[in-house]
Amino acid sequence: MERKLHPTPAGYNHTIAGRTVLASPVCDFDMVVFGGTGDLALRKLLPALYYRHAEGQLPDAGRIIGVARQQIDRAGYLQMVEQACRTHIAPEDFDDHQWQGFARRFQYVHLDAGEAESYRPLVDCFEGVPEHRTRVFYLATSPLLFGVICHNLHGVGLVNAMARVVLEKPLGHDLASSCEINDRVGEVFEEYQVYRIDHYLGKETVQNLLVLRFGNAMFEPLWRSGLIDHVQITVAEQVGVEGRGDYYDRAGALRDMVQNHLLQLLCLVAMEPPTSLTPDAVRDEKLKVLRALRPLAGESVVTHTVRGQYRAGAINGQPVPGYLEEPGIAPARGTETFVALKLFIDNWRWGGVPFYLRTGKRLQSRTSEIVLNFKPVPHSIFQEGSGGLADNRLVLRLQPEEGVKLDMMAKAPGPGMQLKPVHLNLDFAQTFQGRLPGAYERLLIDVIVGRPTLFMRRDELEAAWAWVEPIMAAWTARSDSPKSYNAGTWGPTSSIALVERDGFTWHEEG
Ligand code: NAP
Repeated sequence: MERKLHPTPAGYNHTIAGRTVLASPVCDFDMVVFGGTGDLALRKLLPALYYRHAEGQLPDAGRIIGVARQQIDRAGYLQMVEQACRTHIAPEDFDDHQWQGFARRFQYVHLDAGEAESYRPLVDCFEGVPEHRTRVFYLATSPLLFGVICHNLHGVGLVNAMARVVLEKPLGHDLASSCEINDRVGEVFEEYQVYRIDHYLGKETVQNLLVLRFGNAMFEPLWRSGLIDHVQITVAEQVGVEGRGDYYDRAGALRDMVQNHLLQLLCLVAMEPPTSLTPDAVRDEKLKVLRALRPLAGESVVTHTVRGQYRAGAINGQPVPGYLEEPGIAPARGTETFVALKLFIDNWRWGGVPFYLRTGKRLQSRTSEIVLNFKPVPHSIFQEGSGGLADNRLVLRLQPEEGVKLDMMAKAPGPGMQLKPVHLNLDFAQTFQGRLPGAYERLLIDVIVGRPTLFMRRDELEAAWAWVEPIMAAWTARSDSPKSYNAGTWGPTSSIALVERDGFTWHEEG
């Protein structure tokens, strides 16, 4: 198909591919949610938009158009959305009057995304809509449909300079399939119009990481090899496959979590200071980190990676089945539900500093955190018996309670010189009164106003796949299975050994 070139859109204020474009407040928009009846839309996207509506951030003329094959009318769709909002919005935040206003934004179109001729009713929704109005196509569907949806949107004339497309993960299952999706999407949309979402980047603490690092003079000089001993990134889930066994069994934890969320977090921790927060400035720096990752392949995969799979156990005292007993899982499948990795970033700042990453399902607690462990003091002036010195540690908690904690040493009150580890604790919910907006709320607004800083650029995504692929290949080539771990623990014992071999322990607060 002939590549479609769009004129520079009005209404942005970034330099994108060498073009300077303007910023806008939340402007009038049409958001078309493909997969509007699905779990992602009903559980995350539409409740997030409700919150933005209720907080007065959406312009009156902003429309939301749900799209799916199910043949229901607008009233039927609204019933579905209302039920979802009542379920997924805190009762104290759901207000009938606000709901009435929110509901007025909705339209529903049933079409089959794969059949161009069924797009007519969607085209009708845009009859008379001015070309300068922002239009967002959110693809909350299988990635197998991404290419055909983009081509069909283009074929019926709905893609203009103000159009943006949001792509949900998984963007492929390896580098080749990811490139194929990006190529197909890229035949219709310019790169600046493509928003590859990783909702981890919308979390308050993740953005706070940027402020902590680059808004405070005191941290940046410490943020390097020589002062930092090692870094840990943990994204632990208590849930199992949550009815998505069919997808998960083909993906596994490396593709589902490491390739995107954990590597993105790693990039934000490890990148050099960008010159500004413009999209390309930040994404250029993230890309450099991905390109500096020391490859894990062949023998180093054996020594530097651990993969596990949960068996039956208990979470919060309740028995839960093992992975192979979950619905939708193929018998005797070797899918990993846990990954731990040791990696190095081969650049001046991080030379020799090990980074340990781990993620898994059915772990002891739902915890996401980044832990920077500082080196010990070079010389202790305190006598033996004074309690010993624990190394400083900076913990950035992403969930459950977002916050920042600094572990340091203090003198215990009283006679003598007894040392005691203490914590400086910043709890965001307590410090900044009120509800912390969810990640999707932030990111959906970013899409509407055209702020792609927190979305992945194509080269980043492909660099991440290129790094992960040899690990997948080495695992596939080996005949052994993932190590078993009991649900409700912190993963296989070999994960503990991975860090203990280097004289460390995982930071676990449960
Ligand atoms: P889902 O519950 O199965 O929903 C799929 C949606 O797509 C439904 O609305 C479905 O409606 C619609 N659909 C399917 N085929 C269609 C077609 N040919 N034409 C038009 N609409 C079609 O899936 P989901 O959990 O929402 O996930 C959607 C995508 O997001 C998946 O790729 C998933 O991996 C990804 N994702 C999901 C989550 C999550 O929390 N759920 C998180 C991150 C990423 P009809 O069947 O009526 O057409």
